[in-house]
Amino acid sequence: LLEVKGLEKYYGDTPVLRQINLTVHKGEVVVVLGPSGCGKSTLLRCMNGLEEIQHGDISYQGHSLTKGKTVWREIRQHIGMVFQNYELFPHLTVMDNILLGPLKVQRREKQEARAHAEELLTRVGLLNRKSAYPRELSGGQKQRIAIVRALCMKPEMMLFDEVTASLDPEMVREVLDVILGLARQGMTMIIVTHEMGFARSVGDRIVFMDQGFICEETTPELFFTNPTTERAKQFLDIFQ
Ligand code: ATP
Ligand code: MG
Repeated sequence: LLEVKGLEKYYGDTPVLRQINLTVHKGEVVVVLGPSGCGKSTLLRCMNGLEEIQHGDISYQGHSLTKGKTVWREIRQHIGMVFQNYELFPHLTVMDNILLGPLKVQRREKQEARAHAEELLTRVGLLNRKSAYPRELSGGQKQRIAIVRALCMKPEMMLFDEVTASLDPEMVREVLDVILGLARQGMTMIIVTHEMGFARSVGDRIVFMDQGFICEETTPELFFTNPTTERAKQFLDIFQ
């Protein structure tokens, strides 16, 4: 579905991503792990066309995306992204936040989009909060709404960047459960997380990064029981 080939990304003279090759197949869940500053967020942003890249190519369903800006605008609608800091609009209700994209960007019919939003809200257990404003929600609830907002665009693929990192421990589970549910339904996903138990249970594949390189790419089973690089061993030791 998404293929990254020979990607190099610099901020000024500083290399941030080096020789990145990564293919994500339809229905696959790829978990990206690595120490702070290794380039995980930058990689996700590149894959969503939010960053300029210096070398290499990114293609979506076989179409090279590196050149055309207009193509990205189209493609980005098919790739949903949720960040660490829920970016809901504070002055809009939950429902209006969710419907913004479907109505304004996709120009969908209001009845249909609203019904879709309600179905998704039900799925994450938040239908009764549809008229609330973001400030009236807990962190975990806001993150679940952010996920619903992305899903309401009917994405073919979802990118998650440390979506539980700023949550209190008791709210982490409810958000991870929503993502696990998506995995079971076969959603293609790339997930950056520091939750190792979750990474192991949700991932079909683990990609371990360090200093802009992909150091290991293997199954969760192998990565957590038998990491091959010294860097991955050190990284995992922190979580023991
Ligand atoms: P974390 O786990 O802390 O979120 P990360 O793996 O997501 O880290 P990135 O945010 O991708 O790391 O950053 C990779 C490197 O690029 C870091 O050294 C960071 O300082 C640098 N960087 C990120 N964004 C910019 C920017 N806009 N301008 C300059 N340097 C940047
Ligand atoms: Mg990051």
